[in-house]
Amino acid sequence: GATIGILGGGQLGRMLSVAAARLGFRTHIYEPAARPPAADVAHAVTTAPYEDEAALRAFASAVDVITYEFENIPTAALDLLEAHRPIRPGRRALAVSQDRIAEKDFLTGLGLSTAPYAGVDSAQDLEAAIARIGTPAILKTTRLGYDGKGQARLRAPADAAAALAAMQGAPAVLEGFVDFSHEVSVIAARGPGGEVAAYDPGENVHRDGILHTTTVPARLSPAQRSDAVLIAARILNALDYVGVLGVELFVTAQGLLVNEIAPRVHNSGHWTQNGCAVDQFEQHIRAVAGWPLGDGKRHSNVVMTNLIGEEIEQVPGLARESMCALHLYGKAEARPGRKMGHVNRVNGPARG
Ligand code: ATP
Ligand code: MG
Ligand code: MG
Repeated sequence: GATIGILGGGQLGRMLSVAAARLGFRTHIYEPAARPPAADVAHAVTTAPYEDEAALRAFASAVDVITYEFENIPTAALDLLEAHRPIRPGRRALAVSQDRIAEKDFLTGLGLSTAPYAGVDSAQDLEAAIARIGTPAILKTTRLGYDGKGQARLRAPADAAAALAAMQGAPAVLEGFVDFSHEVSVIAARGPGGEVAAYDPGENVHRDGILHTTTVPARLSPAQRSDAVLIAARILNALDYVGVLGVELFVTAQGLLVNEIAPRVHNSGHWTQNGCAVDQFEQHIRAVAGWPLGDGKRHSNVVMTNLIGEEIEQVPGLARESMCALHLYGKAEARPGRKMGHVNRVNGPARG
């Protein structure tokens, strides 16, 4: 069987490796940190920084195709890897999703709606951005943010200096604060032949900037549901994408706004493990390997709940609940804010 190289050895790399193994593939993880969660289930692991050219070359020659669980891989490493093996999803998806301004320029260029935004590199930029966009607003570092890190909220223009200081000199983007009723996301896949399969949108609730629950079905009208899926398909096609993509959306009175995209399997797609015959991890491996995609049909209603930090201590009780599937990542240390696992509570069959 073929070997799939995965950049990143966190829980997403772990669950991709499990799915790959079910299909008879081997996975080889490349991860700078020692003893990553994916190491327990992968066939091979390279522990080396993304600057180690010899390690990157050896990794590339050991695998047939390269994918990733994390979008912030340095460009030089990608250049080197791509000279040896195909990277799926491709470089354009990475370039667009690594930078919040490039991402919003791309999305608005497709005719999709986002929050109003402006690049901010200085106090003068921020003043001009506030004059145009107003408050409340959110200042975010353009790169490397996740789980709400690298963000500062501005309730009023007087919060500008504190927000700028929170960026620690990094390039930033000011976003108008979207008055959304709720948040949803679409997980969708595209194969190398251009076929697209989307999962039913899930409704997301965040706590302290971190995803807390995803519920399917989401509260959406049939028209909103098809809008959400069409937005994802438009993004996939524009990027000539191969693999699974996550699209985060704000539901507003003016329609759906795109918050951000993730060129990988996504936390808000974990419900598919117990709600669909082919989950997002198998779907991603199928796409990357050039197999036919599974359809995105949902057979059950599901609520996915993340287990963050010490919430992992709830596991003995959760294990006694019926229709509650546990997915634990094998992380030793339960630090605050750390994703330790998740549960999928299956709430009966999907209708229709
Ligand atoms: P992720 O872990 O999803 O990658 P992130 O650090 O990239 O998170 P965002 O998705 O940009 O952060 O923001 C986190 C959450 O903060 C959003 O899901 C939403 O609840 C809120 N938020 C972000 N931007 C806005 C905005 N412009 N208006 C209103 N709320 C926002
Ligand atoms: Mg993000
Ligand atoms: Mg997000």
